[in-house]
Amino acid sequence: MSRIAFVGLGNMGGPMAANLLKAGHELTVYDLSAAAVDAAVKAGAESADSLAAVVSGAEYVITMLPAGKHVEAVYLGDEGVLNAVADGTLLIDSSTIAPETSQKVAKAATAKGLSFMDAPVSGGVGGAQAGTLTFICGGEADVFQRASSILRNMGKNIFHAGPHGAGQVAKICNNMLLSILMTGTCEALALGVKNGLDPAVLSEIMKQSSGGNWALNVYNPWPGVMDNVPASRNYQGGFLVDLMNKDLGLAFDNAVKNQATIPMGSLARNLFQLHAQQGKGGLDFSSIQQLFSNLEE
Ligand code: NAD
Repeated sequence: MSRIAFVGLGNMGGPMAANLLKAGHELTVYDLSAAAVDAAVKAGAESADSLAAVVSGAEYVITMLPAGKHVEAVYLGDEGVLNAVADGTLLIDSSTIAPETSQKVAKAATAKGLSFMDAPVSGGVGGAQAGTLTFICGGEADVFQRASSILRNMGKNIFHAGPHGAGQVAKICNNMLLSILMTGTCEALALGVKNGLDPAVLSEIMKQSSGGNWALNVYNPWPGVMDNVPASRNYQGGFLVDLMNKDLGLAFDNAVKNQATIPMGSLARNLFQLHAQQGKGGLDFSSIQQLFSNLEE
């Protein structure tokens, strides 16, 4: 069993940390939110009151933070991880951030003789709770091998996408596709319902036909069609519109930098931006259904 420091105990990090405890690891945690720390302590973790304290004696450091600026602050800040961690500690960042930020942290870590890997995840809060996340890793092959044994306690599929930053590139591509699939699914459901179809019947037909896709099959955006998805609990929990907008911003910036054409991703990004401007940033991303349909009808 290993000694692991975990930083960032939010919607994803909280259940991921809980799974490491269940697997028998010794866990020390740090978060700015006292409530998040309390929940982890109740599950069996030790709490630390600074980044220096949380990484002390750790063999692995795992971070699960909202965005690039938080990752930079946690790793590169004066009081940050790189200035406090012992030689030989393996650093794993599972946040979804720009590939360039992962590469910047990796470079700073390497300069100090430390190993760093980007390992963003797919699978949502449900996957984090069930321990079935997909980890999409970027870094050296031997570091990937070493990290895999720990990641297996939180995930089912562990991929090595390539060098530093490659995990983030693959994750950004995946989430851009997800945004396109979700908006397309909402549009099709809205059209069917306008024609008087039952959204549950239409969903079943499309699931068994060529329109079937992840958003429709396991994350149906129409309220009441599927149990245990955010659409059936007023779009609470899940993957926030604000986070999807962050990821689509990363895809857009990346496309500009690489002169790639992303017409579908750009349209999906504009729709999610519009939705957020209407005050929906704190809802699950499947609430984009509201942009196509008056769900009160
Ligand atoms: P969250 O906002 O629920 O949790 C982030 C946590 O980080 C919070 O508890 C916050 O207090 C803590 N934090 C922020 N700054 C900190 C700092 N300087 N030091 C210590 N703690 C700090 O976010 P989340 O939903 O858990 O997402 C985390 C990352 O995972 C994001 O990059 C997101 O894009 C990605 N992700 C989320 C989902 C999802 O379904 N929610 C799915 C896949 C990937």
